[in-house]
Amino acid sequence: MNILAIGCHPDDLEIGCFGTLAKYIKQGHKVSVCHVANGNMGHVEIMPEELRVMRFNEAEAAARVIGADHYAIDIPDIHVTAHNDQLVYDLSRVMRKTQPDLLITHYEQDYMNDHIQTFYSAFRASFAASIPHFHGNEAGPSVPVGPIYHMDTVAGVGFIPTEYVDISEEIDLKLEALSCHKSQIQWMRDHDGIDFLDFVRTCSRVRGYQCGAQYAEGFRPNLNYLRLTAKRLLP
Ligand SMILES: [Zn+2]
Repeated sequence: MNILAIGCHPDDLEIGCFGTLAKYIKQGHKVSVCHVANGNMGHVEIMPEELRVMRFNEAEAAARVIGADHYAIDIPDIHVTAHNDQLVYDLSRVMRKTQPDLLITHYEQDYMNDHIQTFYSAFRASFAASIPHFHGNEAGPSVPVGPIYHMDTVAGVGFIPTEYVDISEEIDLKLEALSCHKSQIQWMRDHDGIDFLDFVRTCSRVRGYQCGAQYAEGFRPNLNYLRLTAKRLLP
């Protein structure tokens, strides 16, 4: 399968689903990751333009840790909106290039608007990418409308998983990828008073307790028409 995971900020997929993505890759599937916001405002001291470049490189390194292809859209933080037609074009171009059998993205009730808008943008783009006349055909063949899985919210707030993936063997790789986001380890400490790596390990442990695994990630399928399938798609 081809799996495309679309996250908002350069570290969101690492937090929500990198264990699962690493597991897919181990099983021989092809995984691409794409972040929508450039993360340029996620620091107290580093100025946006410098941080934007730094965070792209951090995400690139994190993708390399698990062996995923890395794509990025360059929307400034706090400015992600699904009404941005150019963003939908850009995401549909990534979809036509990667031809996903499955899309993983945020849950529509996550904690901040940029995350929610990333879901709506991906939802809109994944339908648009199936339309041959949308933005011409220069970006590759159209993609059938397919299944979407929502990854966990930050800290699991308001999110009841309906499916779990055991990531006990991938937790170290997940945390290694996360630790590529050095700017965020400092930002989370300064802005939120959080030990980032401990936070993510603990959330994965809690999801593990819920399903009888040591560490796990939780998901919910998107239940709209054309998104449903009789197959188990998660690894
Ligand atoms: Zn985020």
